[in-house]
Amino acid sequence: MLYSEYGKTGKKVSAVGFGGMRFDMTKSNDENAELVLYAAAQGINYFDSAPYYCDDQSETILGLAFKQLKSNSFFIATKCPLSEDTEQKAYDMVCRSLDKLKQPKIHFYHLWNLRKTSHFEQATAPGGLYDGLLRAQSEGLIEHICCSTHQDGPGIRNTVMSGRFEGVLMGVNLLNFMFRWDGVLACNELDLGVACMNPLAGGVIPQHSDALAFLADEGETPTDAALRFLIANPRVNITLNGFTTKEQVDQACRVANNVVPMTDASFERIKKNISTNLDEICTSCGYCKGCPAKIPIPGYMMFYNQMLLENKSEQKMIELIEAFHGYMGVADRQADAKDCIECGLCEERCTQHLPIIKRLKELARWEKEAEKIPKKLED
Ligand code: SF4
Ligand code: SF4
Repeated sequence: MLYSEYGKTGKKVSAVGFGGMRFDMTKSNDENAELVLYAAAQGINYFDSAPYYCDDQSETILGLAFKQLKSNSFFIATKCPLSEDTEQKAYDMVCRSLDKLKQPKIHFYHLWNLRKTSHFEQATAPGGLYDGLLRAQSEGLIEHICCSTHQDGPGIRNTVMSGRFEGVLMGVNLLNFMFRWDGVLACNELDLGVACMNPLAGGVIPQHSDALAFLADEGETPTDAALRFLIANPRVNITLNGFTTKEQVDQACRVANNVVPMTDASFERIKKNISTNLDEICTSCGYCKGCPAKIPIPGYMMFYNQMLLENKSEQKMIELIEAFHGYMGVADRQADAKDCIECGLCEERCTQHLPIIKRLKELARWEKEAEKIPKKLED
């Protein structure tokens, strides 16, 4: 395992971080805690969680595992949502996490999910969220204040220039890195820690390994290449992986144990091949939930990904849309793409800044066209 110092915090963190957002919730908390212990045995020492992950069990699961680990052998990261908008609410949120984690302190505490400048301004207003974190820090309940953000590169640069944070967690992967790379560079310039999440673009990279074969060097898979891109990158301290299985832990650790930095030639080849559209894929993060028209947006956007990633024609998408209606989270839908009332809520929340309304209009047109295709007779 590779380790590096996380900014100026003095903490040596593992290049592979454990993201506690994808536990298998058909298993017991004790069984999931076993996976955490397995990861720790492979050298992973950074464990990320958040309130409400995995039916609000993620912090509890990590807490069960931490009880069995030597103190000082691991680092905990968790988060406070922007909805905790007063000093007291934010402070209470820290206490809530400590209680679930059964730990005396949290090493890296994140102001969670900054997506625009006004979020930062709101959180750092006097008597607001950030003040609650300062109070928790002064009492030794948290060590380092960080943030997680889905802003673009320049937005992240502005945020970190405030001097309020010691590290930043951001969604970066081989498919979208150009969108946020300036944020990574800004953190490097200021000697702040850099943690990257979503290294496999929400599963898009492994699911489309043929179309993305250009990402890989000889003898590796696109998934390995995507992990190597971040794990072997000296500009990145931690690559967070949402682990569900031991095999996934092994895969990430294998990359970290045989680290081969990406050559300039590979990097250039990838850059050349990534069309501008690839920056615009939906990573199925789910932050656009809550559509007033009840449209299952991530499902629709993941379907749209197929066109971008696999260069499918519009006609092909029309032919496929009926089959798609049976899965990708749209099977139980209460509304179709055409029901969008263009309120803009989803676009405001979208971590990838996707033109969701425009895409839904296209999808609605495809759905209408598909109705004209004669149905096959059932056997
Ligand atoms: S813009 Fe359309 S899809 Fe987005 S939240 Fe509003 S109604 Fe839903
Ligand atoms: S549409 Fe945007 S917010 Fe919604 S799941 Fe996709 S990337 Fe995430």
